[in-house]
Amino acid sequence: MSILVMKFGGTSVATLDRIRRAAKRVGREVANGHDVIVIVSAMSGETNKLVGLVDDTSPLYEAREYDAVVSSGENVTAGLMALTLQEMDIPARSWQGWQVPVQTTSAHAAARIEAIPPENILAKFGEGMRVAVVAGFQGISPEGRITTLGRGGSDTTGVALAAALKADECQIFTDVDGVYTTDPRICDKARKLHRIAFEEMLELASLGAKVLQTRSVELAMRYAVPLRVLSSFDEYSEDAGTLVCAEDEIVESNVVAGVAHSKDEAKMTLISVADRPGIAAAIFGPLAEAGVNVDMIVQNISEDGRTDMTFSCPVNQVARARDAMEKAKASGEINFHDLVADEDVAKVSIVGIGMRSHAGVASKMFATLRDENINIKVITTSEIKVSVLIDRKYTELAVQSLHDAFGLEKAG
Ligand code: ADP
Ligand code: ASP
Ligand code: MG
Repeated sequence: MSILVMKFGGTSVATLDRIRRAAKRVGREVANGHDVIVIVSAMSGETNKLVGLVDDTSPLYEAREYDAVVSSGENVTAGLMALTLQEMDIPARSWQGWQVPVQTTSAHAAARIEAIPPENILAKFGEGMRVAVVAGFQGISPEGRITTLGRGGSDTTGVALAAALKADECQIFTDVDGVYTTDPRICDKARKLHRIAFEEMLELASLGAKVLQTRSVELAMRYAVPLRVLSSFDEYSEDAGTLVCAEDEIVESNVVAGVAHSKDEAKMTLISVADRPGIAAAIFGPLAEAGVNVDMIVQNISEDGRTDMTFSCPVNQVARARDAMEKAKASGEINFHDLVADEDVAKVSIVGIGMRSHAGVASKMFATLRDENINIKVITTSEIKVSVLIDRKYTELAVQSLHDAFGLEKAG
């Protein structure tokens, strides 16, 4: 028996027509002899609508109830997809996360999958079911509460099920026909990559290329799940899309594989905190406890025993971060003069495993931004990436000029 996982994102199930189109694709694989696990996202725009309802109800919401609300979009598409397949005489049924069960941690709104016992789905395949339609993005905590896997989490549901059920391949159907050198929506010279290494995809995803959720790439790498990104609108071909694979399966690659950007960033600066041992722990401990995802950190030079501490976090966590810092100040754990938030920043990054063996990549990036008169506010680097924080209004210009500077229009 061979199992295939096919995940359809929000735009691919945005209307009943598109659900039918996706179902036909699934039908073709069933006819080819596969048992299929279909993962569906909520219809395009639905999750945003649900998040908005939660925000309007309770700005510092409790994450358990956030999950109860925002997970519901996937229930609708899972049922509709199962009904559509049944209309085509394909034995199919829907599964919500808890029914599979997709067992997760209790980190609500950002839960991690811990295990997926495959028995329930396998038993139904054994009884003649040909398609299991699983609501993406959802899980169940050890306490029996509904969890969600973070935005874009249906990709992770797909890869985790592919690993748990030892599927031949995990196919991610979306509104672009593969992974590009940069977001094709903001750079018309972006080129589709035939293959990309897990490590590069992992960095691109975590730096804002939302075509795959970061955690899905991590899982695919760990469990060696062949992962393919495809368009749900193109006709089928054997070699379609982009294969995310091990580094040694790639023959030729650029020093820089791609450029990523994220506009959901904010820069926060604590003005005049005491420069003493333990200050970073006193600041970032409460932020972590409040669920703030701190990314870049810079501590300025200290003067008279006091310093400024700058960090970046997702822009929608600014209120939460401010609340955590005010509470830490009130309890005497830290003292600061002011907390300044800059909510008009973006992060732009270049990524490539070739950077390990090539010097001068970062300086070329800085020179390119200088030539465009773009000021860099914060820099971070790792072995295979360089990221900068800049004014948000320059995001497109920065991405396009870096794409040109590193010759990515010739990639693919
Ligand atoms: P889905 O709803 O199918 O999960 P997403 O919106 O989450 O789709 O992801 C697909 C989008 O990712 C594309 O429409 C594209 O704008 C964006 N994207 C960002 N970076 C890249 C990239 N390097 N390659 C392809 N798509 C990218
Ligand atoms: N519907 C969820 C979201 O919009 C999960 C997903 O689509 O992957 O984030
Ligand atoms: Mg997505």
